[in-house]
Amino acid sequence: MMFAVLLLAFTCNAFRSSILQQESDADIIEVAVRANGKKASQKNRQASTSAGRKRNNSTSAAKEQTSDADAAVRIWEATLGTPPPWLNTYAQKCFAGYLDVAYHNKEHALDVYGFMLNVFLKDTRKVAWLAKTALALSALCHDYGHPGLNNGFMNKFCDDQIDTALLNPVELSGANAIKAEICSKPQVGGSAGSFMAYTPTSGLAVLPPDANLSFPAFQGCGKTSEGCSSIEETFHASKAAAYWELETFEINRRSSLVRMRKRRKFAAMLKDTVLATDFGYDFALREQLASLKGRAGAELSRHIAMHAADINAASAPNFVWWSASVLAEFARQYHVGGPGPPPAANVHEVAKNQFSWSLGVRALLYASYQALGVNAGYTGKDVLKDGAAVVAADSESSVAVEAFQLLERNILLWRDCAAATKDSADKHPIESNSKSSSVQLREVIIQKTLQACGWAGHPEYGLQLSRW
Ligand SMILES: [Zn+2]
Repeated sequence: MMFAVLLLAFTCNAFRSSILQQESDADIIEVAVRANGKKASQKNRQASTSAGRKRNNSTSAAKEQTSDADAAVRIWEATLGTPPPWLNTYAQKCFAGYLDVAYHNKEHALDVYGFMLNVFLKDTRKVAWLAKTALALSALCHDYGHPGLNNGFMNKFCDDQIDTALLNPVELSGANAIKAEICSKPQVGGSAGSFMAYTPTSGLAVLPPDANLSFPAFQGCGKTSEGCSSIEETFHASKAAAYWELETFEINRRSSLVRMRKRRKFAAMLKDTVLATDFGYDFALREQLASLKGRAGAELSRHIAMHAADINAASAPNFVWWSASVLAEFARQYHVGGPGPPPAANVHEVAKNQFSWSLGVRALLYASYQALGVNAGYTGKDVLKDGAAVVAADSESSVAVEAFQLLERNILLWRDCAAATKDSADKHPIESNSKSSSVQLREVIIQKTLQACGWAGHPEYGLQLSRW
Protein backbone atom coordinates (compact mmCIF):
# COMPACT_ATOMS: atom_id res chain seq x y z
CA MET A 1 0.00 0.00 0.00
CA MET A 2 2.73 2.37 1.08
CA PHE A 3 4.55 1.49 -2.05
CA ALA A 4 1.49 2.30 -4.12
CA VAL A 5 1.09 5.70 -2.42
CA LEU A 6 4.75 6.49 -2.91
CA LEU A 7 4.53 5.42 -6.51
CA LEU A 8 1.48 7.59 -7.03
CA ALA A 9 3.18 10.58 -5.40
CA PHE A 10 6.25 10.04 -7.52
CA THR A 11 4.22 9.69 -10.69
CA CYS A 12 2.28 12.87 -9.94
CA ASN A 13 5.45 14.79 -9.24
CA ALA A 14 7.06 13.45 -12.34
CA PHE A 15 3.99 14.44 -14.31
CA ARG A 16 3.92 17.92 -12.78
CA SER A 17 7.60 18.49 -13.35
CA SER A 18 7.25 17.32 -16.93
CA ILE A 19 4.47 19.90 -17.40
CA LEU A 20 6.65 22.59 -15.82
CA GLN A 21 9.52 21.50 -17.97
CA GLN A 22 7.38 21.85 -21.03
CA GLU A 23 6.27 25.34 -20.02
CA SER A 24 9.79 26.58 -19.53
CA ASP A 25 10.85 24.89 -22.75
CA ALA A 26 8.03 26.64 -24.52
CA ASP A 27 9.35 29.90 -23.15
CA ILE A 28 12.62 29.40 -24.95
CA ILE A 29 11.04 29.43 -28.33
CA GLU A 30 8.43 31.90 -27.20
CA VAL A 31 5.52 29.68 -27.86
CA ALA A 32 4.09 31.34 -24.79
CA VAL A 33 2.17 33.17 -27.48
CA ARG A 34 0.34 29.91 -27.99
CA ALA A 35 -1.60 30.75 -24.87
CA ASN A 36 -2.70 33.92 -26.58
CA GLY A 37 -3.46 32.51 -29.97
CA LYS A 38 -5.25 35.62 -31.20
CA LYS A 39 -2.23 37.80 -30.66
CA ALA A 40 0.04 35.43 -32.50
CA SER A 41 -2.40 34.93 -35.34
CA GLN A 42 -2.76 38.69 -35.68
CA LYS A 43 1.00 39.06 -35.83
CA ASN A 44 1.23 36.36 -38.43
CA ARG A 45 -1.56 37.92 -40.43
CA GLN A 46 0.18 41.28 -40.20
CA ALA A 47 3.41 39.69 -41.31
CA SER A 48 1.59 38.07 -44.23
CA THR A 49 -0.22 41.27 -45.17
CA SER A 50 2.84 43.46 -45.00
CA ALA A 51 4.71 40.80 -46.89
CA GLY A 52 1.83 40.89 -49.37
CA ARG A 53 2.14 44.66 -49.73
CA LYS A 54 5.83 44.43 -50.38
CA ARG A 55 5.28 41.92 -53.13
CA ASN A 56 4.42 44.48 -55.81
CA ASN A 57 7.81 46.10 -55.64
CA SER A 58 9.94 43.07 -55.05
CA THR A 59 11.78 40.82 -57.45
CA SER A 60 10.20 37.52 -58.40
CA ALA A 61 12.76 35.63 -56.30
CA ALA A 62 11.79 37.57 -53.20
CA LYS A 63 8.12 36.97 -54.05
CA GLU A 64 8.67 33.25 -54.14
CA GLN A 65 10.44 33.27 -50.78
CA THR A 66 7.53 35.17 -49.28
CA SER A 67 4.92 32.80 -50.62
CA ASP A 68 6.98 29.79 -49.56
CA ALA A 69 7.31 31.32 -46.11
CA ASP A 70 3.54 31.91 -46.04
CA ALA A 71 3.11 28.24 -46.93
CA ALA A 72 5.42 27.25 -44.06
CA VAL A 73 3.27 29.29 -41.63
CA ARG A 74 0.07 27.80 -43.03
CA ILE A 75 1.39 24.24 -42.70
CA TRP A 76 2.46 24.90 -39.10
CA GLU A 77 -0.97 26.31 -38.26
CA ALA A 78 -2.71 23.33 -39.81
CA THR A 79 -0.60 20.75 -38.01
CA LEU A 80 0.90 22.16 -34.82
CA GLY A 81 -1.32 25.14 -34.02
CA THR A 82 -0.17 28.72 -33.59
CA PRO A 83 3.39 29.14 -34.82
CA PRO A 84 6.00 31.36 -33.19
CA PRO A 85 5.53 34.93 -34.45
CA TRP A 86 8.91 35.02 -36.15
CA LEU A 87 8.38 31.83 -38.20
CA ASN A 88 7.61 33.74 -41.39
CA THR A 89 10.83 35.76 -41.39
CA TYR A 90 12.91 32.76 -40.28
CA ALA A 91 11.49 30.77 -43.19
CA GLN A 92 12.13 33.62 -45.61
CA LYS A 93 15.77 33.74 -44.56
CA CYS A 94 16.13 29.99 -45.02
CA PHE A 95 14.42 29.97 -48.42
CA ALA A 96 16.51 32.92 -49.60
CA GLY A 97 19.63 30.79 -49.19
CA TYR A 98 18.54 27.93 -51.45
CA LEU A 99 20.09 27.86 -54.90
CA ASP A 100 18.54 27.11 -58.27
CA VAL A 101 19.74 23.52 -58.54
CA ALA A 102 17.80 20.42 -59.56
CA TYR A 103 17.10 18.77 -56.20
CA HIS A 104 18.55 20.53 -53.16
CA ASN A 105 16.39 23.60 -53.68
CA LYS A 106 13.68 25.32 -51.67
CA GLU A 107 11.00 23.03 -53.10
CA HIS A 108 12.84 20.18 -51.40
CA ALA A 109 13.07 22.16 -48.14
CA LEU A 110 9.33 22.86 -48.13
CA ASP A 111 8.60 19.26 -49.08
CA VAL A 112 10.66 17.87 -46.19
CA TYR A 113 9.08 20.38 -43.82
CA GLY A 114 5.56 19.51 -45.00
CA PHE A 115 6.18 15.79 -44.66
CA MET A 116 7.76 16.26 -41.24
CA LEU A 117 4.86 18.24 -39.80
CA ASN A 118 2.08 16.23 -41.41
CA VAL A 119 3.44 12.73 -40.90
CA PHE A 120 5.72 12.82 -37.88
CA LEU A 121 4.68 15.78 -35.74
CA LYS A 122 0.98 16.42 -36.19
CA ASP A 123 -0.58 13.82 -33.96
CA THR A 124 2.28 12.44 -31.97
CA ARG A 125 2.75 12.92 -28.29
CA LYS A 126 5.94 10.94 -28.55
CA VAL A 127 8.00 13.91 -29.65
CA ALA A 128 8.33 16.71 -27.06
CA TRP A 129 7.35 20.22 -28.08
CA LEU A 130 10.93 21.48 -28.06
CA ALA A 131 12.06 18.64 -30.32
CA LYS A 132 9.09 19.28 -32.62
CA THR A 133 10.15 22.89 -32.94
CA ALA A 134 13.76 21.88 -33.61
CA LEU A 135 12.59 19.44 -36.28
CA ALA A 136 10.36 21.97 -38.01
CA LEU A 137 12.98 24.71 -38.00
CA SER A 138 15.69 22.28 -39.10
CA ALA A 139 13.65 21.08 -42.04
CA LEU A 140 13.30 24.61 -43.40
CA CYS A 141 17.04 25.37 -43.38
CA HIS A 142 18.48 21.87 -43.65
CA ASP A 143 19.98 22.19 -47.17
CA TYR A 144 20.59 25.95 -47.09
CA GLY A 145 23.07 27.02 -49.78
CA HIS A 146 23.46 23.50 -51.19
CA PRO A 147 25.38 23.82 -54.49
CA GLY A 148 23.69 20.71 -55.98
CA LEU A 149 26.99 18.88 -55.60
CA ASN A 150 27.54 16.70 -52.59
CA ASN A 151 30.11 16.29 -49.81
CA GLY A 152 32.36 14.21 -52.05
CA PHE A 153 32.56 17.17 -54.41
CA MET A 154 33.10 19.60 -51.52
CA ASN A 155 35.96 17.46 -50.22
CA LYS A 156 37.70 17.96 -53.55
CA PHE A 157 36.63 21.58 -53.86
CA CYS A 158 38.06 22.39 -50.43
CA ASP A 159 41.37 20.90 -51.58
CA ASP A 160 41.30 22.89 -54.86
CA GLN A 161 41.02 19.71 -56.90
CA ILE A 162 38.05 20.89 -58.98
CA ASP A 163 38.38 22.72 -62.28
CA THR A 164 36.18 25.70 -61.43
CA ALA A 165 35.85 26.60 -65.12
CA LEU A 166 33.37 23.72 -65.39
CA LEU A 167 31.08 25.17 -62.74
CA ASN A 168 28.27 27.59 -63.51
CA PRO A 169 27.98 30.81 -61.45
CA VAL A 170 25.31 29.35 -59.14
CA GLU A 171 27.43 26.32 -58.26
CA LEU A 172 30.58 28.37 -57.89
CA SER A 173 29.01 30.87 -55.52
CA GLY A 174 27.43 28.07 -53.47
CA ALA A 175 30.62 26.04 -53.20
CA ASN A 176 32.69 29.13 -52.39
CA ALA A 177 30.31 30.17 -49.60
CA ILE A 178 30.63 26.75 -47.97
CA LYS A 179 34.37 26.70 -48.49
CA ALA A 180 34.81 30.12 -46.90
CA GLU A 181 32.84 29.19 -43.82
CA ILE A 182 33.62 25.53 -43.28
CA CYS A 183 36.63 24.05 -45.10
CA SER A 184 39.28 25.59 -42.91
CA LYS A 185 37.26 25.58 -39.71
CA PRO A 186 36.44 22.04 -38.70
CA GLN A 187 33.70 21.74 -36.13
CA VAL A 188 33.13 18.78 -33.92
CA GLY A 189 29.88 17.20 -32.79
CA GLY A 190 26.48 16.35 -34.14
CA SER A 191 24.81 13.16 -35.16
CA ALA A 192 27.24 12.15 -37.82
CA GLY A 193 30.22 13.94 -36.42
CA SER A 194 31.78 16.62 -38.54
CA PHE A 195 33.83 15.81 -41.57
CA MET A 196 33.44 12.14 -40.89
CA ALA A 197 30.54 9.86 -41.53
CA TYR A 198 30.83 6.43 -40.07
CA THR A 199 28.65 4.10 -42.04
CA PRO A 200 29.88 0.77 -43.38
CA THR A 201 29.50 0.26 -47.11
CA SER A 202 27.90 -3.17 -47.21
CA GLY A 203 24.76 -1.68 -48.70
CA LEU A 204 22.37 -4.03 -46.97
CA ALA A 205 19.28 -2.39 -45.62
CA VAL A 206 18.84 -4.20 -42.35
CA LEU A 207 15.25 -3.20 -41.93
CA PRO A 208 11.90 -4.86 -42.31
CA PRO A 209 9.84 -5.47 -44.35
CA ASP A 210 12.46 -6.38 -46.93
CA ALA A 211 15.29 -7.45 -44.66
CA ASN A 212 16.35 -10.18 -47.03
CA LEU A 213 16.83 -7.83 -49.95
CA SER A 214 19.86 -5.77 -50.66
CA PHE A 215 19.58 -2.24 -51.95
CA PRO A 216 22.56 -1.54 -54.14
CA ALA A 217 21.32 1.97 -54.81
CA PHE A 218 20.81 2.72 -51.15
CA GLN A 219 24.17 2.44 -49.55
CA GLY A 220 25.08 5.57 -47.72
CA CYS A 221 28.79 6.15 -47.69
CA GLY A 222 31.67 4.63 -45.83
CA LYS A 223 34.22 5.86 -43.38
CA THR A 224 37.01 5.29 -45.83
CA SER A 225 35.15 6.43 -48.92
CA GLU A 226 36.19 9.78 -50.31
CA GLY A 227 32.53 10.72 -50.62
CA CYS A 228 31.94 10.98 -46.90
CA SER A 229 32.04 14.03 -44.70
CA SER A 230 29.62 16.48 -43.15
CA ILE A 231 31.00 19.64 -44.68
CA GLU A 232 27.70 20.70 -46.17
CA GLU A 233 25.50 19.64 -43.27
CA THR A 234 27.73 21.60 -40.89
CA PHE A 235 27.16 24.65 -43.07
CA HIS A 236 23.38 24.18 -43.21
CA ALA A 237 23.25 23.58 -39.45
CA SER A 238 25.17 26.75 -38.67
CA LYS A 239 22.70 28.75 -40.77
CA ALA A 240 19.66 27.23 -39.05
CA ALA A 241 21.05 28.10 -35.63
CA ALA A 242 22.21 31.56 -36.70
CA TYR A 243 18.80 32.53 -38.12
CA TRP A 244 16.99 31.20 -35.10
CA GLU A 245 19.31 33.26 -32.87
CA LEU A 246 18.67 36.30 -35.04
CA GLU A 247 14.91 35.94 -35.04
CA THR A 248 14.76 35.48 -31.29
CA PHE A 249 17.40 38.10 -30.52
CA GLU A 250 15.04 40.22 -28.44
CA ILE A 251 14.04 37.25 -26.32
CA ASN A 252 17.67 36.36 -26.01
CA ARG A 253 18.52 39.85 -24.78
CA ARG A 254 16.10 39.75 -21.89
CA SER A 255 16.83 36.18 -20.96
CA SER A 256 17.87 35.14 -17.51
CA LEU A 257 20.94 32.98 -17.07
CA VAL A 258 18.82 29.84 -16.80
CA ARG A 259 16.95 30.64 -19.98
CA MET A 260 20.20 31.47 -21.72
CA ARG A 261 21.51 28.04 -20.86
CA LYS A 262 18.34 26.43 -22.19
CA ARG A 263 18.55 28.51 -25.33
CA ARG A 264 22.09 27.34 -25.92
CA LYS A 265 20.86 23.80 -25.49
CA PHE A 266 18.12 24.41 -28.04
CA ALA A 267 20.58 25.87 -30.55
CA ALA A 268 22.71 22.74 -30.14
CA MET A 269 19.65 20.55 -30.67
CA LEU A 270 18.80 22.49 -33.81
CA LYS A 271 22.28 21.95 -35.23
CA ASP A 272 22.30 18.29 -34.25
CA THR A 273 18.94 17.79 -35.98
CA VAL A 274 20.22 19.25 -39.24
CA LEU A 275 23.33 17.06 -39.01
CA ALA A 276 21.06 14.01 -38.83
CA THR A 277 20.32 14.62 -42.54
CA ASP A 278 23.88 13.58 -43.40
CA PHE A 279 23.40 10.53 -45.58
CA GLY A 280 26.60 9.14 -44.13
CA TYR A 281 24.57 8.62 -40.97
CA ASP A 282 22.00 6.51 -42.80
CA PHE A 283 23.43 3.06 -42.23
CA ALA A 284 24.13 3.66 -38.54
CA LEU A 285 20.57 4.87 -38.17
CA ARG A 286 19.21 1.79 -39.90
CA GLU A 287 21.26 -0.42 -37.61
CA GLN A 288 19.86 1.35 -34.56
CA LEU A 289 16.36 1.01 -35.95
CA ALA A 290 16.84 -2.67 -36.69
CA SER A 291 17.98 -3.46 -33.16
CA LEU A 292 15.31 -1.35 -31.52
CA LYS A 293 12.96 -3.00 -29.09
CA GLY A 294 9.76 -0.98 -29.05
CA ARG A 295 9.74 2.78 -29.50
CA ALA A 296 12.79 4.94 -29.99
CA GLY A 297 14.21 7.29 -27.34
CA ALA A 298 14.00 11.07 -27.67
CA GLU A 299 17.23 11.69 -29.54
CA LEU A 300 16.87 8.71 -31.86
CA SER A 301 13.25 9.70 -32.57
CA ARG A 302 14.39 13.11 -33.66
CA HIS A 303 17.08 11.68 -35.93
CA ILE A 304 14.73 9.13 -37.45
CA ALA A 305 12.03 11.70 -38.18
CA MET A 306 14.55 14.04 -39.78
CA HIS A 307 16.22 11.44 -41.96
CA ALA A 308 12.95 9.81 -43.04
CA ALA A 309 11.36 13.15 -43.92
CA ASP A 310 14.47 14.11 -45.87
CA ILE A 311 14.22 11.08 -48.16
CA ASN A 312 10.43 10.99 -48.46
CA ALA A 313 10.32 12.03 -52.14
CA ALA A 314 10.06 8.46 -53.42
CA SER A 315 6.58 8.50 -51.87
CA ALA A 316 5.46 11.64 -53.67
CA PRO A 317 2.73 11.91 -56.33
CA ASN A 318 5.29 13.43 -58.74
CA PHE A 319 7.97 10.88 -57.99
CA VAL A 320 9.55 11.12 -61.46
CA TRP A 321 10.23 14.82 -60.93
CA TRP A 322 12.05 14.06 -57.68
CA SER A 323 13.97 11.07 -59.02
CA ALA A 324 15.06 13.01 -62.09
CA SER A 325 16.11 15.88 -59.82
CA VAL A 326 18.42 13.70 -57.76
CA LEU A 327 19.82 11.89 -60.79
CA ALA A 328 20.46 15.19 -62.56
CA GLU A 329 22.57 16.37 -59.64
CA PHE A 330 24.53 13.11 -59.61
CA ALA A 331 25.11 13.40 -63.37
CA ARG A 332 26.17 17.00 -62.96
CA GLN A 333 28.58 16.03 -60.19
CA TYR A 334 30.16 13.45 -62.48
CA HIS A 335 30.56 15.94 -65.31
CA VAL A 336 32.28 18.58 -63.19
CA GLY A 337 34.83 16.15 -61.76
CA GLY A 338 33.27 15.25 -58.42
CA PRO A 339 33.57 11.65 -57.23
CA GLY A 340 30.81 9.18 -58.06
CA PRO A 341 29.69 6.69 -60.67
CA PRO A 342 28.87 7.74 -64.25
CA PRO A 343 25.25 8.77 -64.78
CA ALA A 344 22.61 6.23 -65.84
CA ALA A 345 23.09 5.62 -69.55
CA ASN A 346 19.46 4.81 -70.29
CA VAL A 347 15.98 4.73 -68.81
CA HIS A 348 16.25 1.05 -67.95
CA GLU A 349 19.13 1.78 -65.59
CA VAL A 350 17.16 4.65 -64.08
CA ALA A 351 14.13 2.44 -63.47
CA LYS A 352 16.17 -0.44 -62.07
CA ASN A 353 18.02 1.83 -59.66
CA GLN A 354 14.92 3.74 -58.63
CA PHE A 355 13.14 0.47 -57.92
CA SER A 356 16.00 -0.53 -55.64
CA TRP A 357 16.23 2.93 -54.07
CA SER A 358 12.48 3.03 -53.40
CA LEU A 359 12.66 -0.35 -51.67
CA GLY A 360 15.31 1.12 -49.38
CA VAL A 361 13.12 4.14 -48.68
CA ARG A 362 10.22 1.81 -48.01
CA ALA A 363 12.25 -0.17 -45.49
CA LEU A 364 13.33 3.01 -43.74
CA LEU A 365 9.87 4.59 -43.73
CA TYR A 366 8.32 1.37 -42.50
CA ALA A 367 10.77 1.12 -39.60
CA SER A 368 10.41 4.84 -38.88
CA TYR A 369 6.64 4.60 -38.66
CA GLN A 370 7.00 1.66 -36.29
CA ALA A 371 9.63 3.32 -34.11
CA LEU A 372 7.72 6.58 -33.83
CA GLY A 373 4.29 5.00 -33.55
CA VAL A 374 2.99 6.70 -36.68
CA ASN A 375 -0.33 5.22 -37.74
CA ALA A 376 0.19 2.23 -35.52
CA GLY A 377 -1.47 -0.77 -37.09
CA TYR A 378 -0.60 0.05 -40.66
CA THR A 379 2.03 -2.43 -41.68
CA GLY A 380 2.39 -2.06 -45.40
CA LYS A 381 3.29 -5.75 -45.56
CA ASP A 382 2.80 -7.83 -48.69
CA VAL A 383 2.35 -4.73 -50.71
CA LEU A 384 4.79 -5.66 -53.38
CA LYS A 385 2.69 -8.73 -54.06
CA ASP A 386 -0.49 -6.76 -54.43
CA GLY A 387 -0.24 -3.05 -53.90
CA ALA A 388 -3.78 -2.34 -55.01
CA ALA A 389 -5.35 -4.70 -52.47
CA VAL A 390 -3.51 -3.15 -49.56
CA VAL A 391 -4.36 0.34 -50.70
CA ALA A 392 -8.03 -0.57 -51.01
CA ALA A 393 -8.13 -2.47 -47.72
CA ASP A 394 -6.78 0.41 -45.69
CA SER A 395 -9.66 2.50 -44.52
CA GLU A 396 -7.57 4.80 -42.39
CA SER A 397 -6.90 8.03 -44.17
CA SER A 398 -3.97 10.16 -43.21
CA VAL A 399 -0.97 11.72 -44.89
CA ALA A 400 1.20 9.00 -43.36
CA VAL A 401 -0.85 6.24 -44.95
CA GLU A 402 -1.22 8.10 -48.23
CA ALA A 403 2.54 8.50 -48.42
CA PHE A 404 3.00 4.78 -47.94
CA GLN A 405 0.37 3.98 -50.53
CA LEU A 406 1.98 6.27 -53.07
CA LEU A 407 5.33 4.69 -52.34
CA GLU A 408 3.90 1.24 -53.04
CA ARG A 409 2.44 2.52 -56.29
CA ASN A 410 5.74 4.11 -57.30
CA ILE A 411 7.70 0.93 -56.52
CA LEU A 412 5.41 -1.08 -58.77
CA LEU A 413 5.66 1.52 -61.53
CA TRP A 414 9.47 1.49 -61.43
CA ARG A 415 9.48 -2.30 -61.38
CA ASP A 416 7.24 -2.45 -64.45
CA CYS A 417 9.26 0.17 -66.28
CA ALA A 418 12.50 -1.70 -65.55
CA ALA A 419 10.94 -4.87 -66.95
CA ALA A 420 9.48 -3.13 -70.00
CA THR A 421 12.75 -1.46 -70.99
CA LYS A 422 15.03 -4.38 -70.24
CA ASP A 423 15.43 -5.69 -73.79
CA SER A 424 15.40 -2.32 -75.48
CA ALA A 425 17.62 -0.33 -73.14
CA ASP A 426 19.63 1.10 -76.02
CA LYS A 427 16.48 2.58 -77.51
CA HIS A 428 16.09 4.87 -74.52
CA PRO A 429 19.47 6.49 -73.99
CA ILE A 430 19.97 9.45 -71.68
CA GLU A 431 22.85 11.56 -72.89
CA SER A 432 24.31 14.31 -70.79
CA ASN A 433 27.44 16.42 -70.69
CA SER A 434 29.11 19.16 -68.69
CA LYS A 435 27.43 21.93 -70.67
CA SER A 436 24.00 21.49 -69.11
CA SER A 437 23.04 22.64 -65.63
CA SER A 438 21.43 20.14 -63.28
CA VAL A 439 18.09 21.88 -63.86
CA GLN A 440 18.40 21.30 -67.62
CA LEU A 441 19.50 17.70 -67.12
CA ARG A 442 16.46 17.12 -64.93
CA GLU A 443 14.15 18.01 -67.81
CA VAL A 444 15.95 15.60 -70.14
CA ILE A 445 15.64 12.72 -67.66
CA ILE A 446 11.96 13.47 -66.98
CA GLN A 447 10.98 13.53 -70.65
CA LYS A 448 12.96 10.39 -71.53
CA THR A 449 11.55 8.49 -68.56
CA LEU A 450 7.90 9.46 -69.11
CA GLN A 451 8.18 8.40 -72.71
CA ALA A 452 10.13 5.14 -72.28
CA CYS A 453 8.06 3.93 -69.31
CA GLY A 454 4.79 4.59 -71.11
CA TRP A 455 3.81 7.28 -68.60
CA ALA A 456 3.15 10.01 -71.12
CA GLY A 457 -0.50 9.84 -70.11
CA HIS A 458 0.56 10.77 -66.58
CA PRO A 459 2.53 14.00 -67.03
CA GLU A 460 1.90 14.77 -63.34
CA TYR A 461 4.53 12.15 -62.42
CA GLY A 462 7.11 14.51 -63.86
CA LEU A 463 5.60 17.86 -62.94
CA GLN A 464 6.66 20.08 -60.11
CA LEU A 465 3.60 19.70 -57.92
CA SER A 466 3.17 21.15 -54.49
CA ARG A 467 2.08 18.40 -52.19
CA TRP A 468 1.33 20.58 -49.19
ZN1 LIG B 1 17.61 17.37 -47.82
